[in-house]
Amino acid sequence: MSTKDKILVRVQSPEGLKRIELSKNTNIKDLYELVRETLKLEDYGFSLFKERNFTSEIISSRSQTIASQNIKHGDMIFFKQVAGISERRASAVAIDKISSAAASQSFQPVLKNEVKEDPVDLLLAKEDGRIKRERDSKLCHHNLNGCCIHCSAIEPYDEGYLKEKNIKHLSFHSYLRKQTSGMTGGKFVAFEDLNCKIKSGCREHLPWPKGICSKCQPSAITLNRQTYRHVDNVMFENTAIVERFLEYWRNTGHQRMGYLYGQYEVLSDVPLGIRARVAAIYEPPQESSRDSIKLLDDDNANDVEEVAKALGLCRVGWIFTDLISENASAGTVKHIRGIETHFLTAQECILAGNLQNSHPNPCRYASNSVFGSKFITVCVTGDKLKQVHMEGYAVSAQCMALVRDDCLIPTKDAPELGYIRESSDKQYVPDVYYKVSIVPSMKIHPTNEIIAAWQHLGKSKTYESAVYLPLFLEFHFFFVSFYYYYYFTIFTENG
Ligand SMILES: [Zn+2]
Ligand SMILES: [Zn+2]
Repeated sequence: MSTKDKILVRVQSPEGLKRIELSKNTNIKDLYELVRETLKLEDYGFSLFKERNFTSEIISSRSQTIASQNIKHGDMIFFKQVAGISERRASAVAIDKISSAAASQSFQPVLKNEVKEDPVDLLLAKEDGRIKRERDSKLCHHNLNGCCIHCSAIEPYDEGYLKEKNIKHLSFHSYLRKQTSGMTGGKFVAFEDLNCKIKSGCREHLPWPKGICSKCQPSAITLNRQTYRHVDNVMFENTAIVERFLEYWRNTGHQRMGYLYGQYEVLSDVPLGIRARVAAIYEPPQESSRDSIKLLDDDNANDVEEVAKALGLCRVGWIFTDLISENASAGTVKHIRGIETHFLTAQECILAGNLQNSHPNPCRYASNSVFGSKFITVCVTGDKLKQVHMEGYAVSAQCMALVRDDCLIPTKDAPELGYIRESSDKQYVPDVYYKVSIVPSMKIHPTNEIIAAWQHLGKSKTYESAVYLPLFLEFHFFFVSFYYYYYFTIFTENG
């Protein structure tokens, strides 16, 4: 480009102000691409606006140029995250300090004091969180009381430190610190749940399926590996409770599920980490076989909650078995889950999503007071050595949203594959993309096979009634697909 039509625009984003050099003839689509590159984003889940209060969107277009959109040298444009989670930040939307009245109207005030956060969150919020380092005998050239770049405290989200300690996911509080570390100190950061539904009450046209517009249409979703997790570790206070839970399977050969009751506590191994400490397993009424579990109505559910509350415990997750005995005298079980098959089935991911949605995580930075969930899923199954072992999981915020908005369903023939519903007259479903290069990640079934029988699973709120949970179907060994992105070690105090 000639220097004559070269201009500089500034982009205000949650990461601060960025400058982009471009030609007046650059089209708007390329402007989006430049912004994405400059901010090192994985996807296009954002919009650009001319004003701070996000009123007039600069619509991506090949035919419109910077000049025709009247964007001039030195102009400021404003970035807003619209679709769920990008690789680097969840749907954190930063609102500039000087936001106008119009912006505050469309945006719920954040940092609400009335949000009742979990005790562990209140504790962690008070912690400094920075990791102290010792004087480095090789690199530090100052005296004992001095401090330099090699020995000063580092942030809990420091990439080098996490790599060194082999911590694959940021703890949620480290992630919060990272998101709120900008100039405004997080005062204007708000987490918003990903939305996969048409915004209701749009007056621009007749309701779906007769009409849809850019104002009410949910954005396309790119499935990404989530960089943070709400719970970093699970611990059972006592192996005896697990043994007692497994007794049912040992005696009958049938599978079993239970709710985990316990507390969330600070975990010191991970910066600003949280551990779920399990004190008890409650087994609700259920009918099961070798391959399935069906939950029945539970008349005692309220009493159980009351007792737990009186003991200072809450429901922290659920546990289920997927065990087939191989050699009863040797005590070995079949190794059926793993990298070659799957860790969780789509059905289990959906159920975990439902349970996580019904146990939301209170969060002061969330625009609707809750964000994500600390609810964990524990699967008891056979490991490589054919021993009974446990693994813990949680589904991502994207999965929770897809489940909540009834977009994700299991497939008929492949337990490890999920299926994104297609838009119908009754429901508009946004496009969902995933990148094969990001492994592990969710994989979407390539064909259009949907099984109607699963649809009775319904939305999150109907979970209380009977839910059929098939545990084993046939396995496909060709696909390496993880429904979920992480698992964490579970150990007990005595080993
Ligand atoms: Zn030093
Ligand atoms: Zn509309």
